[in-house]
Amino acid sequence: MIEVVCGDITALEVDAIVNAANNSLLGGGGVDGAIHRAAGPQLLTFNRTLGGCKTGKAKISPGFRLPARYVISTVGPVWHGGEQGEPELLRSCYVNSLELALANNVCSIAFPGISTGVYGYPKDQAAVIAIRAMQAYTDRFKKIIACCFSEADAALYREVLQEHS
Ligand code: ADP
Repeated sequence: MIEVVCGDITALEVDAIVNAANNSLLGGGGVDGAIHRAAGPQLLTFNRTLGGCKTGKAKISPGFRLPARYVISTVGPVWHGGEQGEPELLRSCYVNSLELALANNVCSIAFPGISTGVYGYPKDQAAVIAIRAMQAYTDRFKKIIACCFSEADAALYREVLQEHS
């Protein structure tokens, strides 16, 4: 089941939340900053041991003070116009996060709109990639949540879900 929710991903009671991180995994702005603040300083300490993360890949950490058991950090592509492998890289973020979740017995997982903030990926195109990737995994999870930070983003996801169901 794919569920579209509007709100702060750090508040969600799921097995894992996905972080739209940067290559250092040492924190940043946007959803990354919110997750580090909510998880507490132990997340930064833990992530220092991970050796960063390549674009399109994913790494897992404990959730520390979060309601979620795990944080799965993935690094989305920066949008450079779409001709530099951005769609494949964005799809890899979702697929690698979902595979890492499965390997850690995660049954419920929530994603933010990876790359759709500072990284500048067009939201409509990103939503199609996100929904398609999630749909390929619905039978292996109890719940996959698309966590949107605005009602406009949630409306877009719902539209894409209808078009691609
Ligand atoms: P990126 O660098 O991958 O673009 P951002 O953090 O800038 O990452 O933005 C990714 C998406 O996360 C944006 O759509 C933004 O609105 C959303 N976002 C920001 N804060 C939160 C939050 N606390 N919970 C859920 N989504 C959030």
